[in-house]
Amino acid sequence: MLEKKKLLKKFNKDWEKYYKIDFLVEKGFERKVCPKCGKGFWTLNPERKHCPDQPCQFYEFLGDPPTRKRFDYIQAWKVIEDFFKKNSHAIIRRYPIVCRWRPDLFFTIASIIDFQRLEKNRVVFEFPNNPLLVPQFCLRFNDITNVGVTGRHYTCFCMIGQHSIYNGKEGYWKDRCIQLDFDLLTKPFGIDPEEVVFVEDLWVGPGAFGPSLEYFVRGLEIGNAVFTEFLTSGSSAKEMKEKVVDMGAGLERFAWITQGTPTSYDVTFEPILRYLEKRTGIKYDAEFFLRYSKLAGSLNLDEVRSIAKMRKDVANRLGVTVELLNQKIKPLEGLYAISDHTMALTFAISDGLLPSNVGGGYNLRVILRRALSFIDEFDWDIDLVDVCELHARHLKLMCPELSEHIDEINRIIEIERKRFHETKLRTKKIVESIVQKGETIDEGRLIELYDSEGITPELIKVYKPELKIPVDFYTKITEKHMGEKKIIIKESVDVSNLPPTQLLVYDDQKKLEFQAKVLRMIDDRYVVLDKTYFFPEGGGQKSDIGFIEDFPVSDVQKIGDVVVHRVLGKLEEGKTVNCRINK
Ligand SMILES: [Zn+2]
Repeated sequence: MLEKKKLLKKFNKDWEKYYKIDFLVEKGFERKVCPKCGKGFWTLNPERKHCPDQPCQFYEFLGDPPTRKRFDYIQAWKVIEDFFKKNSHAIIRRYPIVCRWRPDLFFTIASIIDFQRLEKNRVVFEFPNNPLLVPQFCLRFNDITNVGVTGRHYTCFCMIGQHSIYNGKEGYWKDRCIQLDFDLLTKPFGIDPEEVVFVEDLWVGPGAFGPSLEYFVRGLEIGNAVFTEFLTSGSSAKEMKEKVVDMGAGLERFAWITQGTPTSYDVTFEPILRYLEKRTGIKYDAEFFLRYSKLAGSLNLDEVRSIAKMRKDVANRLGVTVELLNQKIKPLEGLYAISDHTMALTFAISDGLLPSNVGGGYNLRVILRRALSFIDEFDWDIDLVDVCELHARHLKLMCPELSEHIDEINRIIEIERKRFHETKLRTKKIVESIVQKGETIDEGRLIELYDSEGITPELIKVYKPELKIPVDFYTKITEKHMGEKKIIIKESVDVSNLPPTQLLVYDDQKKLEFQAKVLRMIDDRYVVLDKTYFFPEGGGQKSDIGFIEDFPVSDVQKIGDVVVHRVLGKLEEGKTVNCRINK
């Protein structure tokens, strides 16, 4: 069984084989092991003791960027493009953000997806050039709650993909890749070499894995160079004949590190935010926000639920009340979220996807309604179509095609806005009837109201001000509907040495709730139980979906005699769990 933790241990022990890169050694980089987290890292700075990753180090560039020159979003792209062009890379246009060439994905979630095809459930690569660079706009819906809040989370972002296929003759491998990434940071961007730190890690994907080096500057991870070199089959691995360099870096972060603004949104959405501030009359208190961001950044923000607690801590340290802090921060977070969501909509609608109640369109409608809810909540005079048009203009140099779709975007947003308005009118009645019946509105009810009526919690709050909106509401509903189709790729799941699963669905097709024991958790996302009532896909019929504990089950497959459930969450082996099937 190939588990990430075990593999990383093996790679760590054998670091000379996987991470010792001639270029780093010749440059004088020294390998150290972080005394806090145990990760291996490479640095030119003899004083550095800890790795640069959170929580061992926090952002140290806010208000104090490490470059002499400042680059805006588009300028940063030009610098990167020029650099790789000079270094013999083909620069290719972005692929659609709506991923139609992969049956298991709705959206392009990373640059490498552009070049992956599924053949007989195995991922194969198709590169138009070698090596190449692509500014790939991506969509991810797994963290909506954090978008606008943390300063670095997006649904829509640009991944700079640097890719090469290496077969010993053509393309390049680790050495050249790391040299290019180091040179890019230190030459055109002018970052002091001692500031660049490479951290050893590992990437495990469906059917393949390899070591990776993440690169950091002042606590900010800018890119991650993955070297895919092994194929998995069952519990064994074999070296690939054609290895793949998969370096992905956030364009947002390149621009951000040179500006040191309180959030990366300030850089990515600069002209959009200027417009929104004018429309809403919000005064951006840069000095206050910088102090806030520095403090917030020094606290670990990984747990969504801890945001309220974090606010309290930060308010204390700033010497203001939580109410005053929220008053200053919340409208800005709304503007950031609107900026992100409109950018996602601009790309997705341009690439032919419509907001709807199913598939990828479900998530588009969620972010559109979330944006409209912010406008409602703060009573802003903002036209989302104008904002989309600004995005198209801002990104014209990288994506000239966006401007051609403004009419379409206008038409679609107009229809959606009308729908939302009708929903608003219905909401009052529905809430009144719930109150009359003496029913409570808990999280489950909120999700149901959104799914069946399209009513967002913010709309309910208008009539029920005491309503507590779960902080991760939007993350929950999009997870439930899945930005990815998340099918199980059978070849990558190792079910060896497992007993046949007792498949009970044929004994009792009406059984919707049951308990079972977790026999094995594979790759943190597939679970095998001792018995199951979930119907696995087969005979042209789709699998059941539902929940194991609180984690959604998105797919169920039979591999030999073993039934595998795809879950969004980690379960403990040996434990008895509650299972629920949605019919
Ligand atoms: Zn560390």
